[in-house]
Amino acid sequence: MKPRAFAYCAPRTLDEALALLAEHGSAARPLAGGQSLVQQMNQREVSPAVIVDLNRVAELDYLRATADGLLAVGAMTRQQRLVDAAEVRSVNPALTAAARAVAFPAVRSRGTLGGSVANAEPGAQLPLLLTVLDAHATIARQGGRRTMPVAALITGARTTALAADELVIELAVPPLGPTTGFALGEFRRGHSGPPLVAVAAVIELDAAGGVSAARLGVTGASAVPLRLHAAESRLIGEVVTPDRLAEVAELAVAQVGTGDGVLADGALRRRAARALLARALAESMAHARQRGGTEEQI
Ligand SMILES: Cc1cc2nc3c(=O)[nH]c(=O)nc-3n(C[C@H](O)[C@H](O)[C@H](O)COP(=O)(O)OP(=O)(O)OC[C@H]3O[C@@H](n4cnc5c(N)ncnc54)[C@H](O)[C@@H]3O)c2cc1C
Repeated sequence: MKPRAFAYCAPRTLDEALALLAEHGSAARPLAGGQSLVQQMNQREVSPAVIVDLNRVAELDYLRATADGLLAVGAMTRQQRLVDAAEVRSVNPALTAAARAVAFPAVRSRGTLGGSVANAEPGAQLPLLLTVLDAHATIARQGGRRTMPVAALITGARTTALAADELVIELAVPPLGPTTGFALGEFRRGHSGPPLVAVAAVIELDAAGGVSAARLGVTGASAVPLRLHAAESRLIGEVVTPDRLAEVAELAVAQVGTGDGVLADGALRRRAARALLARALAESMAHARQRGGTEEQI
């Protein structure tokens, strides 16, 4: 199929883009990398009357260290740049890995971080990692800005708290500490889109090998990326054994619940989530030991 006819605008500045969105309201859609939107338009799942193409808005494409140690990423930064950039790897190698997990270079060289978050597709690795890390999004509209956690921005499958005249302009990503390890996992049926289920584990170990901080998340088994707080708190202070890993993965999946009717294959997705979480926990702890310089086996 082909999209319905639309008007095309190519602003060169953020102010021009926001003015166009204010003028056209819900008739308009911003276009970032087009890796999801174009397909949705071709399928006529969405039929915007006006496309506001952000690809010439150079001021939204940047990586910057902030004074408080965060990595600020402009919304139009391509996913492949997140894979390649040394400053991303040194501040937060989990972001490098999550970007590398997206599709393949041709998709990543167009797809953007802001587009991935705004698209809010269940199973998508980047919104999951940003949720797990407590990253914040800066959102702009004509005459105003606000900041909110990515976890609050994504409200449902392909649904966000963004108003029609708002743009995500920046994602602020916290750094990963030197004794923090991470692991990502995914279960997929093909490579035409995000995995069915993705998980992320970020674990910090103390000098004795006990867990001092834990961040766990899943997407695809739930419609939105979920932080698994109950399972996280079960790990704190523990030197974790393989038996405890299985127990924590079970607890985590219980928090996911039985689905909210939005996603098909709920039982399959939960089974996948349980296995992926147990594996990601073990890998993230091994990675934390490796980064902290203490090589022990679980
Ligand atoms: C073959 C293939 C495989 C893929 N595999 C994966 C995968 O493994 N994992 C994965 O996560 N994704 C995957 N994708 C999706 C891809 O990564 C997209 O990059 C991503 O979903 C959307 O980013 P985009 O920049 O292309 O946004 P677009 O497609 O341009 O836009 C997506 C949506 O976000 C809105 N939007 C875009 N930017 C902004 C902004 N700054 N502010 C507000 N709204 C905005 C648009 O209006 C639209 O509604 C795949 C896509 C393809 C074609």
